Amino acid sequence: MKLARVNGRASLLTSDGAIDIEKTSNGQFSEHVQEIYSRWDEFLAAAPALLEGAAAPYGEADLGSPVEMPAHVFAIGLNYGAHATEVGVEIPTVPTVFTKFPATLTSPFSEFELSGDRVDWEVELVVVISKRADFVAMEDAWSHVAGLAIGQDISDRTMQFAAGGQFSLGKSYRDYGPIGPWLTTLDDVENPDDLSLRCWVNDELMQDGRTSSMIYGVPHLISAISDICPLLPGDVIFTGTCKGTGVGLDPPRFLKPGDVVRSEIEGLGQIHNAAVAARRS
Ligand code: ZN
Repeated sequence: MKLARVNGRASLLTSDGAIDIEKTSNGQFSEHVQEIYSRWDEFLAAAPALLEGAAAPYGEADLGSPVEMPAHVFAIGLNYGAHATEVGVEIPTVPTVFTKFPATLTSPFSEFELSGDRVDWEVELVVVISKRADFVAMEDAWSHVAGLAIGQDISDRTMQFAAGGQFSLGKSYRDYGPIGPWLTTLDDVENPDDLSLRCWVNDELMQDGRTSSMIYGVPHLISAISDICPLLPGDVIFTGTCKGTGVGLDPPRFLKPGDVVRSEIEGLGQIHNAAVAARRS
């Protein structure tokens, strides 16, 4: 099942179009997707009836991020060994967790203004939480996940590696967190622990990996983070990127105005985002 925000309203996508959840449920469920994540089991039970509702056509430009200002957006650094090597950092012995601030999240087919001359791409599997995860054991972790989506952890390497380590700011410029194109619910993902992920810049394949190569898989990440603070319904985890980012190339390569970053994960679709020049200096 595909859960999306269409013109800001929570919707189910089918081959016939988009079904507005609030209207089809006669107000039983909200148009706000975060409220749906907080009633996830109830929503899943109602979904077969909702899928009988009237579908309206929609286009790419109508799709927003399938989350809306979540409480937490965690991200994982250095979670693929080959990427850790390409950026010249030792493989971590515990997950390297940082945050992207929620206001950086944006729609799957958006533009982002380049914050400098060292802005990089990172395709990532994104996990969206359903029920609150608090001290969750690894074996129970997947039962706290609503579904999966594609994310781009767009990164300003200058700010990221600035004195003092400004990881979170370097990854939180405006529109540096496209997610989408929709949330694919977990029941529709055959093997969530092993999905191919790829990223192109202007149709040149830059990243080509598999999520099974993660050092810390999704259950480990949920368990480790929920030991420290609870994960709430609709929270997001960017699970790290694989080899092939611009900073790891020799010579390094970064995004220029007009470049289009296209990201794909097996079974989850594709998103594409265009880099544009900063509109203010
Ligand atoms: Zn990343």
